[in-house]
Amino acid sequence: MKIMRVFLIILFTIIFNLNSAFAYDLVLPKEKKTITSSNFAFFVGKAGKDESIVINDERIYLASNGAFAHSVKLKDGENRIIIKSNYSTQVYKVHKIVQEKSLELELIDLEPQLYVVKKDNTPLRKTPIDFGMNRLSHLFEGTYIIVNGKKGDFYRVLLSKDDEAWIHKNSVKIAEREICPKFITMNSETYKNASKHTIEFTEKLPYTIRENDKEIVFKVYNPLVSENSIYTVNIRKPNKYTYETISYNGVYVFKVNEICRPENNTLEGLTIVVDAGHGGSEKGAIGCLGNCEKDINLKIATELKDILSLMGANVIMTREVDGNVELDERVKLAKNNFSNLFISIHLNSIPDIKFDIHKNKGTSVYYYNKNSKELAESVLNSLTCTLNTRKEGVKTASFAVLRPTEYIGILVEVAYMVNPLDSVLYTKSEFPRETAQAIAEGILNFTRTEY
Ligand SMILES: [Zn+2]
Repeated sequence: MKIMRVFLIILFTIIFNLNSAFAYDLVLPKEKKTITSSNFAFFVGKAGKDESIVINDERIYLASNGAFAHSVKLKDGENRIIIKSNYSTQVYKVHKIVQEKSLELELIDLEPQLYVVKKDNTPLRKTPIDFGMNRLSHLFEGTYIIVNGKKGDFYRVLLSKDDEAWIHKNSVKIAEREICPKFITMNSETYKNASKHTIEFTEKLPYTIRENDKEIVFKVYNPLVSENSIYTVNIRKPNKYTYETISYNGVYVFKVNEICRPENNTLEGLTIVVDAGHGGSEKGAIGCLGNCEKDINLKIATELKDILSLMGANVIMTREVDGNVELDERVKLAKNNFSNLFISIHLNSIPDIKFDIHKNKGTSVYYYNKNSKELAESVLNSLTCTLNTRKEGVKTASFAVLRPTEYIGILVEVAYMVNPLDSVLYTKSEFPRETAQAIAEGILNFTRTEY
């Protein structure tokens, strides 16, 4: 009897172990029942050896390490998704919330009214519907503006006879006093690798910065005096440059700095911020095998720091360990250290589109300001050449770490965390070093090329 019991225990242990050795692990979805407003449900995970995965009768591609990722288009309401492997059949229920179609907002003209901006760094936008890409400037606290219209949550701002802008209604309040801003003086100074342009008024006024191919155009508007009252500074763009706007009382100081080519194939004289994306409770994207993006980002960033330091750059890390760092702290660190370049390192997550293993894969590099486009292209070329990844391209996006003009900033998405093919690449031990080497080469090529 006792022997029989021992035998049964051994048998059950073997069966249990066999099962766990073969059964797949799902990273996504986390629960068997989920509610979402997304258009797709994602099934991301890793199959066991010799295991096959079928989702809603479709056989799923498995990478050499067993990784898989698959999207299922959701209909409104309840969706039943069946995932079958050699060893089990599981049913997942995903409830898609029906989104109400947003109504076209009506533009309402208002009697012109004087408002004042409540805090620094308030975006002034080209249009009220904004995905972050149409900012004209960031206004300072205490800037006086005239509001003459409204659309949804945005006020229309009168700049001049031909120019208007938009500002969020919560960023401004009605001015408590009448003002009559007067122009005092305008002045330009040129230095060896910089120029400084000052325009002085008795009050803070709205301004815009626009870039064309050859110039940066800085304008301050004084619609309280006249709808034709515009003060313009046109500055020829240096080859590689950064710029900043400072305002105190009614004085605007606009500075353009040229980034000079370092000597002897080095990065001497450059301060570079290396930003490992996410950290701490912000895990970033999760890969098919359960890896966290934040950990891979940090490994690459640490390697990059060493390589750039050896090349002569002054390198500052936004984090050197696994911990939470706010986005504005990362930006502040770069600004306070007069950083020339900002390199943010990430691996891509899944977009809310049909997942295609051959399309949602590879490397992309993001930038926001025009001064950063060439660096983005140079790093993308170097990365795709070295890692042999798919060239997804250079893209623009309004990421908080990329918006400042005080540095040249890029955000690298080296590969897709959820792509099974990319997961083979980013789990290789040499991946962080090779990636860092390629980014460093991209930076060096950028500093050595005349655009
Ligand atoms: Zn990320």
